[in-house]
Amino acid sequence: MVRSGLIPVLSLFCLTVALPVLAQGPVPPVLASEAPPAPTDLAAFWDAMPPRPAAPLFTADAVTAEVQRIARAPGGLVAVEQLGSSVEGRPIWHLTVGRGPLAVLLWSQMHGDEPSATPALFDLLDTITAHRESPRVARLLDRLTLHVVPMLNPDGAERYQRRNAQGIDVNRDALRLQTPEGRALKAVRDRTRAAIGFNLHNQNWRTSVGRTPPKPATISLLAVAFDEARTEDAGRVLTKKTSAVLRDALEPLIPGQIGRYDDEFEVRAFGDNVTKWGTPVVLIESGAVAGERPDQQLTRLNFVALLTALDALASGRVHEATTARYESLPENEDRLFHTIVRNATLLAGTGVPGFVADVGVVGQRVVRRSDGQRRLGLAARIEDVGDLRVFGALEVIEAEGKFLAPLFDPALQPGARVTIGASPTWPATITQGAPPAFLLLTRGESPDTYVVERVIRVGDTDRRQ
Ligand SMILES: [Zn+2]
Repeated sequence: MVRSGLIPVLSLFCLTVALPVLAQGPVPPVLASEAPPAPTDLAAFWDAMPPRPAAPLFTADAVTAEVQRIARAPGGLVAVEQLGSSVEGRPIWHLTVGRGPLAVLLWSQMHGDEPSATPALFDLLDTITAHRESPRVARLLDRLTLHVVPMLNPDGAERYQRRNAQGIDVNRDALRLQTPEGRALKAVRDRTRAAIGFNLHNQNWRTSVGRTPPKPATISLLAVAFDEARTEDAGRVLTKKTSAVLRDALEPLIPGQIGRYDDEFEVRAFGDNVTKWGTPVVLIESGAVAGERPDQQLTRLNFVALLTALDALASGRVHEATTARYESLPENEDRLFHTIVRNATLLAGTGVPGFVADVGVVGQRVVRRSDGQRRLGLAARIEDVGDLRVFGALEVIEAEGKFLAPLFDPALQPGARVTIGASPTWPATITQGAPPAFLLLTRGESPDTYVVERVIRVGDTDRRQ
């Protein structure tokens, strides 16, 4: 049974929530115009917004606090409803804004460990609330009604895991509907009968696009199919055109890093069934991105993409887009490592003589808990050793003419001299599955001596964010 109905707003007023000031200051130029927004201007607008925690640290409680803050915002622009409860009783929120005839349904974090879009949805709602009088936002409110489910799977988010508290992948429950989270999504779909839906996920950090060299698929798009034949009806044309708009919004920010997600029909999935039920769905998958603060980069891209797509739906400009602009996106592949050390002579520590190889390390965002705190982490391991020239990486370390050994002595520092025999054996090795901790060495003055140039560690807790 899905509980439904409006939560008494008065009860929200009884809670003490720190309210940030929503300034109705001068209209930002990017919202003052009704012309298509420049992606770089929208990105700069996001950069000027108050920072939020990195998306993986944005908890179910934080989502509830944000929802309550928005419910209390002056003007009553956003209606708040508890759509249902998770298996463990956490609220599943539904926020509605706008008075337009075109209903748009957006849901995020159906998979608990796929959070990048969740803060972007609140950034979007804050932008709408704070700048409701601006020409761009006023048009959006006149033409669209947005239905936003910012965190569909709060129990999974609490554990930072894909599945819900029953251990079910909610995205394979669209037919059997045994999860309260799935039932909540179906209920809001059936009630709103939205004209288009946005299904917001994260994909594996191995996902790549292109071949020369493979780049991270930082965002992948899918105009979801509703049958095995991948039939193109009016709804699928709309989602393809919307995806074309999304591509144009993202291309200047992440050139060559946009992929097309496999469009095979999955009979149990929500995107496919929501489309079949009459709400054509665009899937947005956030992947890997190089550089500092990847989580914030992904949230920023989601914000730019969503605001641009909603603006195009509100203006009608979406209909001018071509489906070919979406269809010509390269398909997702799995050719990305987190880190590759290329062309080193490996002193692998397994008792074999040195040989030339590349070493590929995979890494994935995790959330670690210690002392009651949640911290960002990166789970990493050696995944492949050999000729990895067909793969790309977020970080490439060129080591031609150098030697790579496992970090057999954690006390070693750059500049240290070490003596290593021709076929060394250590407890630490450079083999598939081993921890990615290495010594990058240069040849010393005699055949068995080496100088530590660099200690390389990939993974562990990343405290920079
Ligand atoms: Zn997912």
